[in-house]
Amino acid sequence: MTDVAERLAGLRDRIAAACAAAGRRPGEVELLAVTKTFPVEAVQEAYSAGHRHFGESRQQEAAPKIAALPRDIHWHFIGGLQRNKARKVLGEFDVIHSVDSLRLAEHLDRVAGEEGKRPEIYLEVNVAGEESKGGFSPEELLAASDAFAGMQHVAVIGLMSIPPDDEERARHWFATTRELRERLRTASGLHLPGLSMGMSGDFEQAILEGSTIVRVGSAIFGHRSYPA
Ligand SMILES: *Cc1c(COP(=O)(O)O)cnc(C)c1O
Repeated sequence: MTDVAERLAGLRDRIAAACAAAGRRPGEVELLAVTKTFPVEAVQEAYSAGHRHFGESRQQEAAPKIAALPRDIHWHFIGGLQRNKARKVLGEFDVIHSVDSLRLAEHLDRVAGEEGKRPEIYLEVNVAGEESKGGFSPEELLAASDAFAGMQHVAVIGLMSIPPDDEERARHWFATTRELRERLRTASGLHLPGLSMGMSGDFEQAILEGSTIVRVGSAIFGHRSYPA
């Protein structure tokens, strides 16, 4: 096995153990391999090990990788998305985790309609009210519940959050995200099965609080030489 294949297998074991600790089935949690800053060869190694769900955070960086790799990969967009990139991103990605405003959600709904697509989207919430981060405040999110319920060309499947950089408190913020999902569910009538929560350093805590997809980069591919 290659390093990447070994680390993927190790992560699947840790995900299964966290699911067992939470009384959940391992199949309830998907592993998204985050490949930003890593070369096509790294993605290819994970692909050869059977992995099919990959995450990228910049359209321009992702486009050549997507073009070079097999078509049966599911690409997830996880970075900041400008509206002028929306059409390209909808052409290349199946899932968008980082929908951080009503304006962006409405734009995606319109463009997806024009393109004959229906991507899955997660609404990104700024659960801790951090100045430095984007995302909906809880109040903004709930105020837009009717608008989300009316969207025809995007499937609003849940919430995404990136808690403050403090591993001791991560679980608290994951629980807050889950509770907010319940409130939006009640307000909108949407099913909202998804919670995109947890990265290399905190995915086990996220699984204990109901994460359905963990976004893991460095624990699979190693340290990134530049931030993205
Ligand atoms: C980079 C990134 C990740 C992966 O982070 P790691 O700590 O390398 O696992 C997850 N989510 C988002 C939004 C990211 O930008």
